[in-house]
Amino acid sequence: NGGDDVTSVGRGAQDAHRKPVTAARLYDYYLGGIHNFPADREVAKVLLERTPKLRTIARDNRAFLARAVRYLMSVGVHQFLDIGSGIPTEGNVHEIVQAVAPDARVVYVDIDPHAVSESLELLEGNQFATAIRADVREPQAILDHPRVRGLLDFDQPIALLLVAVLHFVEDSDEVRDIVTTFRSALAPGSHLVVAHATIDELIVDERRWEKTQKDYRQQTTTSLVPRKKSDVVRFFDGFEMVEPGLVWLNAWRPEPDMVDEFKDEPERSSFYVGVGRLP
Ligand code: SAM
Repeated sequence: NGGDDVTSVGRGAQDAHRKPVTAARLYDYYLGGIHNFPADREVAKVLLERTPKLRTIARDNRAFLARAVRYLMSVGVHQFLDIGSGIPTEGNVHEIVQAVAPDARVVYVDIDPHAVSESLELLEGNQFATAIRADVREPQAILDHPRVRGLLDFDQPIALLLVAVLHFVEDSDEVRDIVTTFRSALAPGSHLVVAHATIDELIVDERRWEKTQKDYRQQTTTSLVPRKKSDVVRFFDGFEMVEPGLVWLNAWRPEPDMVDEFKDEPERSSFYVGVGRLP
């Protein structure tokens, strides 16, 4: 009955169905969120048929983000620049960190206006967290943004979260430049957190991935570029890898009660994750 279609009112309803599908809303759908439109769900379903583990991967990625953030709090990092933060869902960074330290700072950055407006709504009245709309490919604009400068102290350690976002940037050299620009602005003791899609060791699924990439390119506003481990490692140039290094999604400091569907075949998670520390 369209009851779950948040846009099905007034003259815009038809156009809403033609809204470009975005990575943010696809991800929201995989996570069981409600901030997605029929067009997103159609594409998401096709992708899910091809890669049924997408929901598990999305959930596990979210769980990695939470583990990494808790780790960073434990080593004294209380400021977070979360780029490609997505539509707010369960276990948002500010909720995790401000439960421990109410004055911990969080700036969410996303290219998707919907993700930013939902974040701002959730953050109303929260003086230590905000959200801005910006493109990770313009790191200096993010660094110079008044609300970023207003909330984060660049003389103190900051955690730069680039979780499940760099694979939407096509050019590896550009990604390295992006990270270098951020790194130059960060104080010693700052950290870089990366989660990145890969098709390493998934040779049998290569054709499926090609189709998936084509879908992302043609049907969404972004491309999806899985990378090899050797490429992802290079994004950490200048950082010291925190143990256990760059590893499969669920292998990064797993917690005792963690359910791991990829235990026997970690490569099926098709995500590399890691944390680096700026000396
Ligand atoms: N980081 C969150 C997490 O891991 O749970 C959300 C990841 S979601 C898969 C990817 C997010 O990156 C989406 O919200 C999308 O809008 C955003 N994104 C894609 N390209 C971007 C860009 N060039 N600049 C900023 N954000 C971007």
